[in-house]
Amino acid sequence: IEAVYEKINETEPNVGAFLALNKEEALKQAREVDKNGIDPNNILSGLPIGIKDNIVTKDLTTTAASKMLEDFVPVYNATVVEKLAEAGMISIGKLNMDEFAMGGSTENSAFKVTRNPWNLSKVPGGSSGGSAAAVAAGQLPASLGSDTGGSIRQPASFTGIVGMKPTYGRVSRYGLIAFGSSLDQIGPFTRTVKDNALVLNAISGYDDRDSTSYNGETPDFTENIEAGVKGMRIGVPKEYFHEDAKEKGVVESVRAALKKYEELGAEIVEVSLPHSKYGIPAYYIIASSEASSNLQRFDGIRYGYRAEGVKNLEELYVKSRSEGFGLEVKRRIMLGTFSLSAGFYDAHFKKAAQARTLIRQDFEKVFEDVDFLVAPTTTSTAFEIGGRIDDPLAMYMADILTVPVNLAGVPSVSIPCGFSDDMPVGMQLIGKHFDEQTLYRAAYAFE
Ligand code: GLN
Repeated sequence: IEAVYEKINETEPNVGAFLALNKEEALKQAREVDKNGIDPNNILSGLPIGIKDNIVTKDLTTTAASKMLEDFVPVYNATVVEKLAEAGMISIGKLNMDEFAMGGSTENSAFKVTRNPWNLSKVPGGSSGGSAAAVAAGQLPASLGSDTGGSIRQPASFTGIVGMKPTYGRVSRYGLIAFGSSLDQIGPFTRTVKDNALVLNAISGYDDRDSTSYNGETPDFTENIEAGVKGMRIGVPKEYFHEDAKEKGVVESVRAALKKYEELGAEIVEVSLPHSKYGIPAYYIIASSEASSNLQRFDGIRYGYRAEGVKNLEELYVKSRSEGFGLEVKRRIMLGTFSLSAGFYDAHFKKAAQARTLIRQDFEKVFEDVDFLVAPTTTSTAFEIGGRIDDPLAMYMADILTVPVNLAGVPSVSIPCGFSDDMPVGMQLIGKHFDEQTLYRAAYAFE
């Protein structure tokens, strides 16, 4: 644990992944492990992990990278944090992100810039950019992120590591600061596939404090991980491979990976997900609508930032929210409030919900015929810091390959599959509901 903090000291000036460190407490826990020995039944005991800053940690500041929560110190732990502690893992600190997880570059953080360890002029992706950069830079072997529309898979892809967005309901959201509640899932970042499965083992399971928690079996995600892909059928959704619309090196790397799967004995089948093209409008309406509702609680009274010098209650609300929220968050609140308003609900929110059903049905249909799907995680590799910040629509459009998975609720893991112009390329393996096991097995076979 001391070595971890040394490494962080060395690399942080370049990477900028952390918003808070838990050094004193972590060293205390490490000394306990030294004293009592490693728990032989728990392979993760004594190992370090970092936590995205929208996951609440008792007595440790949790800001969601927002000025709104700059001084917020939670009085309780998220379920995942409790579970990591039960597994004996040592929490190293809190990781930078886009404010309230809205964004794809970590540039929307109210506090700092996080850089891509592969090229410091590029973004690490987002919204879980700090979580990904810390693992990619070798500061940590594992971290937790959250994925509402790609925020684990896209930064994993941009930084050349493994990132899993589990099935909706697999991991408790209790203590995850809500963005789009019907889409949000917590999941692990690691450098290897097996490490990832081990961390998912630790954080999964039913939780009666999350009403959408899955009340079924939690398998051991490392079971059969070495069984290979021989005889498996891999679906390749043709809509996810428009060569002209995407960076060529990305598509080429994924195509080469498919060849490797064929050599390993899998069968490649072209499939179609025709409604995924509605993913962006459906996602941005649904996620923003849910966000506009979830963010009502930040009213300057119950949590966080409170404006000064106000004359009445209305002004307290308006000023606190105007000063506490960043630009992108305000944009989402406006979009969401508009989509849910009486005159526009049918045309916007209801239509988006219908499109979501069609997208989910596309996945269900192809999974009658194939074991899992393979697609690029993103349309390009990591872009320049500042390159897209003034063009929110371009930023939104870039999520076209990740958001359908969240709308359908299915699991998807992004793994590194090559390079394009010296930057890592990621491919995502997309699975049936609650079939993370197949994804890990296939990812492991490729690795
Ligand atoms: N980039 C997407 C957005 O801005 C996804 C974010 C996420 O998954 N949290 O909404």
